[in-house]
Amino acid sequence: MTLIFSGNDFKYELEGVMKLFIPAQLFTHIYTDRAAKCSGDYAFIRRRICRKHTLLYVYCSVNGNAAGLAERIPSDTENFDNKCELILSILLFKAMTKLTGVKAKWGIITGVRPVKRVNSLISQGMSKSQIYDTLQNEYLVSAEKCDIAYMTAMTQENIIKKLSDKTFSLYISIPFCPTRCSYCSFVSQSIENCKSLIPEYIDNLCREIGYTASLVNKIGLKLDTVYFGGGTPTALSEQRLSKLMDAVSSSFDMSGVREYTVEAGRPDTITHEKLDMLKRNGCTRLSVNPQSLNDSVLEAIGRKHTAKQFTDSYRLAANTGFGSVNTDIIAGLPGDTYESFKATVDGLIALGPENITVHTLSIKRAARLNQSDNKRSILKNNAGEMVDYASKRLLESGYRPYYLYRQKNMLENLENIGWAKPGFESLYNIYIMEEIQTIIALGAGGSTKLVDLDNRRLERIFNYKFPLEYNKHFDLMLERKNKIEEFYAEKE
Ligand code: SF4
Repeated sequence: MTLIFSGNDFKYELEGVMKLFIPAQLFTHIYTDRAAKCSGDYAFIRRRICRKHTLLYVYCSVNGNAAGLAERIPSDTENFDNKCELILSILLFKAMTKLTGVKAKWGIITGVRPVKRVNSLISQGMSKSQIYDTLQNEYLVSAEKCDIAYMTAMTQENIIKKLSDKTFSLYISIPFCPTRCSYCSFVSQSIENCKSLIPEYIDNLCREIGYTASLVNKIGLKLDTVYFGGGTPTALSEQRLSKLMDAVSSSFDMSGVREYTVEAGRPDTITHEKLDMLKRNGCTRLSVNPQSLNDSVLEAIGRKHTAKQFTDSYRLAANTGFGSVNTDIIAGLPGDTYESFKATVDGLIALGPENITVHTLSIKRAARLNQSDNKRSILKNNAGEMVDYASKRLLESGYRPYYLYRQKNMLENLENIGWAKPGFESLYNIYIMEEIQTIIALGAGGSTKLVDLDNRRLERIFNYKFPLEYNKHFDLMLERKNKIEEFYAEKE
């Protein structure tokens, strides 16, 4: 597909709109200052600025069918470029909806965090009906997605209000898993392949924990939440995981910690002994993820456990007495059907975890699934109906959406939604999605976000991505952590 830009370079936003209709595709870009067309599928996007008026014009040709739309605005319009970009996005969206029949329910909102937009409308003093009006008429968002985004913002409101300054969350990355799932694009590696790296990785991570604690203690930052993620932290042995948790509790002041999550994503890594150890070391929230309760789907995505193993592990976790258990599922997995997805949702609700996170499959470039022959059939499965069913059943069962985000190349441009029973929302998930608290990330692939809400500053510090590089360049990475001190010195 070719995108031809004439008199504008709104490539980022407009390509984002095109991807809603033609996902997982590479686009060719042409820039010209006159009218143009080309062979094959293309979209011609033009802005012609004249003295008094500006013409905004879109013409799309897809599979031999064509649609064109135009609008004129005064050339002295306030925020001229932004307004032009918005109108061209709307025209392109309408033309592509007509040509493809795809109903993109988030309208022209293409970013990762749609709730941020709602929060910003709330902070401008808009009422609920004004917010709905803006979302539906300006951004073309469907009524269902307005409801979800608004409910999410409302759930977050109280939690955000209670957030105090000078607090931070700690993320510890364990990028190892028993095997690699076919849809995975994380840095996570099979534990079997990385055996030799792990002892050094654990030692370095303990050093990084100690060094970071000395920095934040000096600044006076208070630890609020802890999150062990990955990967699958419970893929580590009980001794290694316990060593890391000890390093955290002996280095940081844990007295203000309100939430301590450990991802035990793969049920086949959970044992009674490990759960007891996690509880003893302060874990208050555990994530056990079936992804599907259909054994043939689990096999197709390369997970080496069955639905029964998940249920057994879930019960073990629930009986250990963590304050909250989360379970993740994915809509649109290869081989899954609407009926089998419904059974997964119903089965999970019957178990009654405090959190259920409903993801939509995203076909990432780095995932094995992206190379598979059945990619086209996956793009056509009914993920949208699956997500709608999950939302309806979860609302009826007393769950409320509390965080929401989107990723690139998600089926039908849908979203991931965290659902929680009231009072069991994960603080960490809200903080990271809404970028309202500093998150210090340690370990391979860790990306620290330093947040200064008062001065609207956000800075990142990246760790090396893979465990091998992490071990090799460890001292350089520790040095980068000194930026934390510089950032807070500037804030004062
Ligand atoms: S469990 Fe998660 S991190 Fe591990 S391979 Fe599967 S998708 Fe990737």
